[in-house]
Amino acid sequence: MESGAVADHDTRKRVAVVGAGVSGLAAAYKLKSRGLNVTVFEADGRAGGKLRSVMQNGLIWDEGANTMTEAEPEVVSLLDDLRLRDKQQFPISQKKRYIVRNGVPVMLPTNPLELVTSSVLSTQSKIHILLEPFLWKKNDSSSKVSDASAEESVSGFFQRHFGQEVVDYLIDPFVGGTSAADPDSLSMKHSFPDLWNVEKSFGSIIVGAIRTKLAAKGGKSGETKSSPGTKRGLRGSFSFKGGMQILPDMLCKSLSHDEINLDSKVLSLSYNSGSRQENWSLSCVSHNETQRKNLHYDAVVMTAPLCNVKEMKVMKGGQPFLLNFLPEINYMPLSVLITTFTKEKVKRPLEGFGVLIPSKEQKHGFKTLGTLFSSMMFPDRCPSDLHLYTTFIGGSRNQELAKASTDELKQVVTSDLQRLLGVEGEPVSVNHYYWRKAFPLYDRSYGSVMEAIDKMEKDLPGFFYAGNHRGGLSVGKSIASGCKAADLVISYLESCSNDKKPDE
Ligand code: FAD
Repeated sequence: MESGAVADHDTRKRVAVVGAGVSGLAAAYKLKSRGLNVTVFEADGRAGGKLRSVMQNGLIWDEGANTMTEAEPEVVSLLDDLRLRDKQQFPISQKKRYIVRNGVPVMLPTNPLELVTSSVLSTQSKIHILLEPFLWKKNDSSSKVSDASAEESVSGFFQRHFGQEVVDYLIDPFVGGTSAADPDSLSMKHSFPDLWNVEKSFGSIIVGAIRTKLAAKGGKSGETKSSPGTKRGLRGSFSFKGGMQILPDMLCKSLSHDEINLDSKVLSLSYNSGSRQENWSLSCVSHNETQRKNLHYDAVVMTAPLCNVKEMKVMKGGQPFLLNFLPEINYMPLSVLITTFTKEKVKRPLEGFGVLIPSKEQKHGFKTLGTLFSSMMFPDRCPSDLHLYTTFIGGSRNQELAKASTDELKQVVTSDLQRLLGVEGEPVSVNHYYWRKAFPLYDRSYGSVMEAIDKMEKDLPGFFYAGNHRGGLSVGKSIASGCKAADLVISYLESCSNDKKPDE
């Protein structure tokens, strides 16, 4: 990509991107590659948002997202364009994932045959899964109130299809580990939109999965042998050599110094429809308030969390545009503890991705949500005589514990790892990061949040919202959201140019 130095005579359309997490950076990258003049504003002194890798004392760890997938085509393109393929790092034995059952880690089945012999579920639940095409129940509330099904919980949905044990021992640990939430609070429609639609089309999830797989196979028959998208999708989760931070770092590298403003918190935005171009003005400030800027743009891509957007002052046509229609969002707090132990002090190490702990297993004394076996996955993350573990504590299951001190959390994590892996004694090193608002909770009223985002975009021409508050929490979904917003900006600016042509 060419350097983005902006000359005085630059006539390119100007777009402001607020937030330098992956969604904002992906949007900026796409806008720049399509020839637009882009400027990113980031409140923090660093780029990456929820991607945060640390290299220290021979250790490499991630305090935010640890891995991502490339299920979204936008991610595949981005990794290719950024030439990140040779930096991609796939975990060793990533299919080996564990759930705690009766106090001990049990490997999750990876196919129907393994499910039959696995001890994760009772025989009754296994039969329930196999007979789901005949046993699944319709959502009663949908027949009574037309819109009530939109707010069905994740636990309600999976209970209807697979029974309570599947909710307790598969769904609960999964949502705890991926969104720090609990299945009773989460909205099925917003948390698992694909499965929600499978039910709409096929009724049974199992039938839907089989028919979708068969249809995909049929569609693939015409493809060449090396169809990159499908092959890459199958390779599962990955990180990068050096940690997840490599991705935002590479995205930042594609922007010039002028195009990314760190330590620049956006305070206000103003839209004036009177002027023919650069209808938007934006003001930002550095953390010690030494630098204030007021700048003009043709469009804005907003990727700051909605709680931050609510704090901004927005004007439209000289009048305040009140954001009081944005609902309050619940955010899940989370602590991440990175510990190392000498290998000889870990008596029952497990190979694989990591272990998740169902809420029900708290009766055995567990307090954490789960642990990633970081150096088992990526041996270069610590010296060869150590194991490095990444443990998550808090979420909706234990919001108070998320705020505990490093010392208290060290005890909690050591105790859980003692039960799970037989660790002995104290960790060699402990690092702690606390996320006060790690994840927005896609709760059962999240439909009102989506409506409010739509309203903001409808009432503010040239304003587009992207990021993990819309369409999914994962890194891949956030990137896709940023890319989609960039596409909408491009169409919007093209339509503005076409509208203005007769006067020119
Ligand atoms: P963010 O990363 O939150 O970026 C928003 C940016 O906006 C921030 O940098 C913020 O500082 C900035 N901002 C806020 N207000 C302003 C303002 N007024 N002016 C300017 N800038 C502002 N996903 C996975 O796929 N796999 C995982 O393994 C995984 N693990 C996770 C573990 C943890 C602990 C956490 C917290 C998240 C994890 N996720 C994971 C989720 C994923 O990392 C995030 O959903 C995703 O990175 C969000 O990207 P984003 O750009 O939408 O938002």
